[in-house]
Amino acid sequence: MSLIARLPKVRGTIREDVNLAKFCWFQVGGTASALYKPQDTDDLQFFLKNLDPEIPFFVFGVGSNMLISDQGFPGVAIRLGREFNYAHKIGEDELVVGAATLDVNLAEFACGNSIAGLEFLSGIPGTIGGALAMNAGAYGSEIKDVLISAHAINKAGELRELSVADLGYFYRGNSLEGDWVFVDAKLKGKVGNKQEIEERIKQIQVERNATQPVRSKTGGSTFKNPEGHKAWQLIDGAGCRGLRIGDAQVSELHCNFFLNLGNATASDLLNLINEVKERVYKKSGIMLKEEIKIVG
Ligand SMILES: Cc1cc2nc3c(=O)[nH]c(=O)nc-3n(C[C@H](O)[C@H](O)[C@H](O)COP(=O)(O)OP(=O)(O)OC[C@H]3O[C@@H](n4cnc5c(N)ncnc54)[C@H](O)[C@@H]3O)c2cc1C
Repeated sequence: MSLIARLPKVRGTIREDVNLAKFCWFQVGGTASALYKPQDTDDLQFFLKNLDPEIPFFVFGVGSNMLISDQGFPGVAIRLGREFNYAHKIGEDELVVGAATLDVNLAEFACGNSIAGLEFLSGIPGTIGGALAMNAGAYGSEIKDVLISAHAINKAGELRELSVADLGYFYRGNSLEGDWVFVDAKLKGKVGNKQEIEERIKQIQVERNATQPVRSKTGGSTFKNPEGHKAWQLIDGAGCRGLRIGDAQVSELHCNFFLNLGNATASDLLNLINEVKERVYKKSGIMLKEEIKIVG
């Protein structure tokens, strides 16, 4: 029986053999056996509850921190669509936001409502779901600092409201066990001055454009910063700035960002990742750990 015939009958859409490259910033990688877009939270719960446990799945946002292998993913890729793209103000300084909302859109929504403290999100090109999974952060703030709680669904189809403590956040990750799909989050900022918030957002965008290859096919930071070190400095120190394998290159502008110059494959990027790890280890004795999520 084909995989698609074995999937629960849902109200959302399911497509077979979907190339994932076009959904990811790197624009590399193979196909997923199926791509499921839930209609709403109930639909997603029903899907996960009734999914054959032998069929693997993973969820993604806009693929700004993800590298899909050339072999693709032999299971179901889940992508939250516009039904999960919303933001509401509740009370003076709190917001409820859907997991498919872009971080930058949330930062702008908060600004429009004179809620300060979320400006850092304007420079992160992912979704709120991705931010919750990665504990995304910039300029000294992380999503955990503005998070009250998040709703997530587990593999058994149970919907839970998880507090920041439940999520056990650390640098670029959380301690949840098993696979969870975030569907929304409740965030808290503080009442601020709209003009000042706007200024801060503009400043962040200018800084980003000057220091990161934001218009390239990239996956953001490739490696986590090891305790007491900056990954980019270790990479630079090992002579890897600009290093190239095929069309995969270590960015000249920010060497913790790797680029697809046009025709790179996921294997080129993976080979480059391994080469850089090896050179950094030889030079500094430090083994870098990937921040980007490698799928498939
Ligand atoms: C130019 C550039 C600049 C960047 N700058 C920063 C930065 O300053 N700070 C920073 O922290 N990151 C940065 N990133 C990395 C990236 O934007 C963040 O990690 C972001 O949070 C990923 O969101 P996404 O929607 O793209 O997630 P994806 O890349 O699609 O997925 C990343 C991970 O999140 C999981 N995930 C996604 N959605 C959900 C969901 N709904 N439920 C459960 N899990 C989910 C995926 O399974 C995967 O493990 C940058 C990336 C780029 C390309």
